[in-house]
Amino acid sequence: MTSSAQLNPDVVVRFAPSPNGLLHLGHAYAAMVAHDFARQREGRFLLRIEDIDSGRSRSAFVAAILEDLRWLGLHWDGEVIFQSERLDSYALVADQLKARGLLYPCFCSRAELRQLLVDRPQPESADGPVYPGTCRHLDPELARKRVATEPHSWRLDIAKAIAITGPLQWMDERHGPQACHPERLGDVILVPKEMPVAYHLAVTLDDARDGISHVVRGDDLFASTHIHRLLQALLELPTPVYFPHPLLCDDKGEKLSKSRDSASLSVLRKGGQNGYGLLQDLRQGIFPVGISLL
Ligand code: GLU
Repeated sequence: MTSSAQLNPDVVVRFAPSPNGLLHLGHAYAAMVAHDFARQREGRFLLRIEDIDSGRSRSAFVAAILEDLRWLGLHWDGEVIFQSERLDSYALVADQLKARGLLYPCFCSRAELRQLLVDRPQPESADGPVYPGTCRHLDPELARKRVATEPHSWRLDIAKAIAITGPLQWMDERHGPQACHPERLGDVILVPKEMPVAYHLAVTLDDARDGISHVVRGDDLFASTHIHRLLQALLELPTPVYFPHPLLCDDKGEKLSKSRDSASLSVLRKGGQNGYGLLQDLRQGIFPVGISLL
């Protein structure tokens, strides 16, 4: 590991897995790209466990993540960061956004949403269909009453937010400068019904709090950056440079995923494979049969 005296203070990169399953080869690739990005620039490489979803996060998966990274020879700097230890800070910011009138309560159930989308099909975004805005114009007095008694999430009023921030951009080190179009994702949920905070808000706050200079993550999260950039502007947070990397996919062109049962790293580790050798292969673009870059 580089000693802190030699580190480049302008480069801080993180790997931010969610402990809701075992890591697979795609994660090894993602962690390697982020790690090597930091090390090649003599920067810091942080590990942040994104465990806000207490219903799906498991400590056994956290333990496996740490073991897998060590087995691959990927060393992170400093203590492991846990989002579950920061829930109060997310709630504080969510309350500030509510007080500014930027969040509104949404009472739509999943079934109602499905029906709404059948009745009035909406454009698809990377986050799924864009919310048709049903609860955006509820009578405020009525909404306040319903908040006290009914399950609800809190959505970001994108039009209101854009009216405050005006046009925004960010720098993508792979694809060049990007114009921000959060309206493409619609009024995303920032505080879900069943979780203390949504990914978009937690990740934006944490990237700022952890001093992340370069967000190195998979291409599948490219579209989320529109929302993250908007939140940075609303909350007066710095904007990192983004570097979305290609994803590993299977022979059908589908990205590897936990839910698709892609061979887990811990199975390979426990089977006696050499993790360091595996990572060296990934570095050189040598992938197991049937696996390639998307
Ligand atoms: N926790 C997210 C995941 O496991 C990654 C978040 C990010 O890199 O922004 O997919």
